[in-house]
Amino acid sequence: MLAQTLFRSRCCQWLTATGFLLLLSGCGVDDVQPTTLERVKADGVLRVVTRNSPATYFQDRNGETGFEYELVKRFAEDLGVELKIETADNLDDLFNRLNAKDGPVLGAAGLVISPGRQARANFSHAYMDVTPQVIYRHGAGRPSSVDDLLGKHIVVLKGSSHAEQLAALKLQYPQLSYEESDAEEVVDLLRMVDEGQVDLTLVDSNELAMNQVYFPNVRVGFDLGDATRVGWAAAPGEDHSLQDEANAFLDTAKENGTLQRLKERYYGHVDVLGYVGAYTFAKHLQERLPRYEQHFQQAAKPLQLDWRLLAAMGYQESLWQPDATSKTGVRGLMMLTQNTAQAMGVVNRLDAKQSIRGGAKYIAQIKQELPESLLEPDRTWFALAAYNIGGAHLEDARKLAKAEGLNPDKWLDVKKMLPRLAQKKWFSKTRYGYARGGETVHFVQNIRRYYDILTWVTQPQLEDRQIADNNLHLPGINKTPPAEVLAPL
Ligand code: GLU
Repeated sequence: MLAQTLFRSRCCQWLTATGFLLLLSGCGVDDVQPTTLERVKADGVLRVVTRNSPATYFQDRNGETGFEYELVKRFAEDLGVELKIETADNLDDLFNRLNAKDGPVLGAAGLVISPGRQARANFSHAYMDVTPQVIYRHGAGRPSSVDDLLGKHIVVLKGSSHAEQLAALKLQYPQLSYEESDAEEVVDLLRMVDEGQVDLTLVDSNELAMNQVYFPNVRVGFDLGDATRVGWAAAPGEDHSLQDEANAFLDTAKENGTLQRLKERYYGHVDVLGYVGAYTFAKHLQERLPRYEQHFQQAAKPLQLDWRLLAAMGYQESLWQPDATSKTGVRGLMMLTQNTAQAMGVVNRLDAKQSIRGGAKYIAQIKQELPESLLEPDRTWFALAAYNIGGAHLEDARKLAKAEGLNPDKWLDVKKMLPRLAQKKWFSKTRYGYARGGETVHFVQNIRRYYDILTWVTQPQLEDRQIADNNLHLPGINKTPPAEVLAPL
């Protein structure tokens, strides 16, 4: 603010001294350039550049999401303006855009406030501490010090704080060699280590926490230095108006608990997400399902759905817990978003019966809207995938399948393409960008497994059997029960 005031008073002096000329040209004090904050408010739009990544910003079936997105959205709401997000191709591109005339005014992308970036941005107060971590593949020998980095194939993101760190380290260790990639995202780096394509990478602790569940082989070797601070980046220069406003917002978010709640929502449950043991399932089958079985049956019947499919979905979503709440704010037994619940006529998402009815209507609607060319039983798996990831991303995966010479109407083929939506090489070519396609494959697989088990353990009524047999070609009642599930019963 001070710099801005100084800047303005200097302008005034200059204007007084050149008053005559100004008078001739018809200019006045009112022509002083507006500050960035004034421009944002006048335009009614906050333009923010970010990275398309699970820790920052991405689209899921409920629309735009991600920790950075949510935080910056609140800032825009605070300013009373609309938020407009754009995604950069890589970190260099992000800073270039921020420095461009008429470009976005703020960078919100898990950006470490590093010494090398001071010339490229005015950083806000920090809102998160992260630690740079050396990542290796389990079984390949744990690196534990800088000496262990020598002679290894290391890849980091171009323009990242880690590239900066390694460059500084190289002054001390000239034999250190590493690659910088501008074509990859953190998810790609982790996958490359997981699959043994590269020996090591460096990522920040928050990014690893968010992604580790998808990369079972990656491990932390050691922390390369102390915790670093993460902040928003505004364009460099004298104009600190937006930065000051952002600081005030972040300080308040820290004080009133908003920041903590967002961190909990996005990072609090990352390690347990999606993992359910067979033993637990069997236990819940006895203890929880009987309470909701009737609701599933009542919801399924008028929609010509198999109630066990709904029950399997309910288990995958909430473990049959009517008061479940997820990191993205979806709630209830069928984990509906506020919007979906409203559209499906659900008044109280925490009411199990309503939630089940809402989920049933929603999956039936999705199923109906799928292209004609998708036939059962695949149609059901596609509907589940769309329920999880959204129809737009599913369409992207189908297009990728087609381009690969695979059949976009076959679940088996599209299933192979879905994980690609999390790899920059592929998602940069799609219309709707990054998506956790791998998670969707797990989602569908889990539901199918629960569905199979439920089919076996329940005594189906004739009507239900007909629906199941006609539409889904489910395994019959004589199928051997999955031993691991039946044992504890
Ligand atoms: N946080 C990193 C940076 O500021 C980028 C993402 C990461 O690798 O964790 O450059």
